[in-house]
Amino acid sequence: MTQLGLPDDIRACLFDLDGVVTRTAVVHAAAWKATFDAFLRERDGADFRPFTDADYDQYVDGRPRADGVRSFLASRGVELPEGTPDDPPDAQTVNGVGNRKNALLLEKIRTDGVEPYEGTLHYIDAVRAAGLATAIVSSSANTRDVLRSIDAERLFDVRIDGVVARERGLPGKPRPDTFLAAARDLGVEASRAAVFEDALAGMDAGRSGHFGYVVGVDRVGQRDALYAHGADRVVKDLAELGGHA
Ligand SMILES: [Mg+2]
Repeated sequence: MTQLGLPDDIRACLFDLDGVVTRTAVVHAAAWKATFDAFLRERDGADFRPFTDADYDQYVDGRPRADGVRSFLASRGVELPEGTPDDPPDAQTVNGVGNRKNALLLEKIRTDGVEPYEGTLHYIDAVRAAGLATAIVSSSANTRDVLRSIDAERLFDVRIDGVVARERGLPGKPRPDTFLAAARDLGVEASRAAVFEDALAGMDAGRSGHFGYVVGVDRVGQRDALYAHGADRVVKDLAELGGHA
């Protein structure tokens, strides 16, 4: 597999969506910031302390929506009732705040569309041409729509997303369960699967799941943190790994 930049015994590749396949990580970050800043402004008044990039990396990126709300608000000493996934976006609950963020995200995606990373699409083509299995593993409940919008659903043999995780009762990243489920569905041992992730929570999942190889995709200049959280290799784009025809 040297032409793919992977160890020889890797048989499957497990890809995160936002920030790895699509340029949507920044859209998520912006939607979270708008949601949390409005929440904090309402609670603390004009001298509220805004949601920062560091907050995004540490508490939110890569995690299921409700986990992101809970962990960030806990860092500010705020605890909300859970509510239910059907809560309206104005409900003062964990799910309500999460749904507010999702409404902003979907609006932005509808307006601006979704752009894939071409380097990733070419790499996945090369992975599949080499006979390796592929999965998309995302906390996002919008995975299917996003993949369809860029005609990329066909690139993945297995999909473990926010919807599937909820159906199966799988805890999200940083726990390794969603990646492990993808490897299992592909019939491949974790030790023979490679994880491709841009979030620190994804690195943690790759490490604790004992995957064969963990690739950190650094889109925002957090190379050292990705290594510290368990990356075997960090690249700025998957084109760096090879896979050119
Ligand atoms: Mg991501």
